[in-house]
Amino acid sequence: MDLKRPLSELTGIGYSYAKRLKRLSLFSLEDLIYHFPFRYDDFSNTTSTLEAQIGQSVTLQGELWSIKNIYTRSRKIITKAIFNDGSAPIELTWFNSSWLTKQIKTGDRLQISGKITKYKNKLSMIAPRWEKLDSYQPKAINHQSLHTGRLVSVYPETEGVSSKWLRTKIDKLLPLVLDKIQDPLPDHIRQEMLPLKSAIEQIHFPKNWDQSEKARDRLGFDELFYISLATQKTRMEWRKKPILDPLIISQDDLKSFINSLPYKLTSAQQRALKQILDDLRKNQPMNRLIQGEVGSGKTVVAAIIAYLVFKNNLRTLFMAPTEILAFQHFDTFSKLLSPFGIKVGIYTGSRKKVQGTESKGQKKNSATSDIIIGTHALLSEKLTTDEIGLIIIDEQQRFGVKQRTLLRSRAKIPHFLTITATPIPRTVALTLYGDLDMSIIDELPKGRQLVKTHVVPEKKRADSYKFIAGKVSNGDQVYIITPLIEASETLKTVKAAKVEFDKLKKIFPTLKLDLLHGRMKGSKKDSIIKDFRSNKTNILVSTSVVEVGMDNPNATIIIIEGAERFGLAQLHQLRGRVGRGVKQSYCLLYSSNQSSQENRRLKYLETTFDGLKLANLDLKIRGSGQIFSTAQSGRFDFKIASFANLDLLEKTKTKAEELLKANPTLDKYPLLKAKLHDIASGVMPD
Ligand code: ADP
Ligand code: MG
Repeated sequence: MDLKRPLSELTGIGYSYAKRLKRLSLFSLEDLIYHFPFRYDDFSNTTSTLEAQIGQSVTLQGELWSIKNIYTRSRKIITKAIFNDGSAPIELTWFNSSWLTKQIKTGDRLQISGKITKYKNKLSMIAPRWEKLDSYQPKAINHQSLHTGRLVSVYPETEGVSSKWLRTKIDKLLPLVLDKIQDPLPDHIRQEMLPLKSAIEQIHFPKNWDQSEKARDRLGFDELFYISLATQKTRMEWRKKPILDPLIISQDDLKSFINSLPYKLTSAQQRALKQILDDLRKNQPMNRLIQGEVGSGKTVVAAIIAYLVFKNNLRTLFMAPTEILAFQHFDTFSKLLSPFGIKVGIYTGSRKKVQGTESKGQKKNSATSDIIIGTHALLSEKLTTDEIGLIIIDEQQRFGVKQRTLLRSRAKIPHFLTITATPIPRTVALTLYGDLDMSIIDELPKGRQLVKTHVVPEKKRADSYKFIAGKVSNGDQVYIITPLIEASETLKTVKAAKVEFDKLKKIFPTLKLDLLHGRMKGSKKDSIIKDFRSNKTNILVSTSVVEVGMDNPNATIIIIEGAERFGLAQLHQLRGRVGRGVKQSYCLLYSSNQSSQENRRLKYLETTFDGLKLANLDLKIRGSGQIFSTAQSGRFDFKIASFANLDLLEKTKTKAEELLKANPTLDKYPLLKAKLHDIASGVMPD
């Protein structure tokens, strides 16, 4: 079987599952095999009911003595079973799983895995995983069971695609294609590591923690290595491009623009600006990253540069990670720059035409816009990008290497400016973006106050709503964020935001509320954002789509529901939506996980306001052992690798350098070349 085979063509998957799998960005058989678990449930402790401790996760083997569905008064269905492994009986309970009684029957021999609890003084297990004994045929590797009695892989899921389903399919399909997996790593590098095939087997079905670690090491190396190599190769080619005429920078122009701003630049902004100006005066394309805390005023620095580029008769492309942000930047740039006669255009998935502030009668295409702001739709072939002098990318890590490489190759000889609020260690930045320079804006504009942050218990909810109403009557605005799982933006979760919206409308009948989520049409999003920014809306109920960059200094309260679902760094980003003006702002966190451990985690936000520190805390709390990658590096499109592993980063970078030095064209390594080509040319679905 061919690795590139579309999933829709495979028996046992078919059209409807293939459609769901697309939401996980899984299109081919290869994608499925490279869909790695993000953690494991450790059910490797096979024991007896008698010996098991309360609270322990264990696996038991025995016989089902009875099983039946019970209908409760509230019309819920509970499935109850008695299971006996010969040492002592234990009660099993499942909720909303009435079909179970068709799958397993009294007398069946089962292996079950779950946590031992005590309920009404009886030993019990809630929603145990189960597998019939005797019936399972080991496939991929020599494992006895798949869903119980071992380290059980847990995958990023989406509506209608469970980890159990994924596990079953991967177990069935992997052996059929194992021989087709080719290892692109050059021999001398590969020697030191687990072979690729074993790594892929072991990441899905490890026999023990050691196997899973070794698999992660190998696959994590690959991820970073290929990115390193791709970046360095791009950089080499970039260097060969014809050099730019140095920009002519008139101090008078610069001053008059800066004086037009409604505030004075902070000294950190001035410093970054100076570093950039020095770059622009050279006859070599700039490649610079501006990094700064949320709200530190990165965007305005970008606007100043775009203005100077315009003064040199060159265009600027500005790529934002989301449509919402593109609209907002469009708004900001238009306000700042149109007084200087600069035409700003927008180009996103839903607005495939460049529109601008140009007067009627002019042809509306890119040729009339001096600055074009958009999403990755900017990469589209149709847009003419002549005379590009500057490419600005906001929160670049959201794009991945593919898009960046594309963007770089299409523009002639532009300067390159990346802005990010994500604290990235220098080593990481070098790996991601190649040989770049960094400017750090480590100062917030004057008058900013720390956002007062509180983890609020449920019983105080009514009080916080009263608090909101009071603030709104003073003219302040509010965000209410409902959770949305990044990996699966399913309809169901969007509905959750809608449900919350309907509920809140009843709680605040006299206020103007609006709803914003990622699945809306572009034009709708745009008008909602405009209304909120111009204070026509009091409360904006939204999913975490506002996380990056949304800027409305008049918003002073953000309520985050289901805070347990977000990492600390992400919560910090969300919190950064308020506290952007001089008024005292507030962040109220609600969590449906009442454990003291989770409470302690969230409480860090009450006292910590440093993004880097919070990111590191995230790593410490969630990064060790069982949970890896997605939480930390999800934004970087990595499944395994984590940027916390600086040693590995350094190692991959050096290996990539050595390889390119010895064989700059990589002609000696056709597989590797093909792999890089894949990385560079794959375009994300819109
Ligand atoms: P970032 O992109 O770094 O999160 P923005 O550039 O969006 O921050 O700026 C945040 C807010 O602060 C904006 O409303 C902006 O107008 C304002 N701002 C930027 N620089 C300054 C400054 N030097 N003084 C006061 N306000 C500023
Ligand atoms: Mg910003």
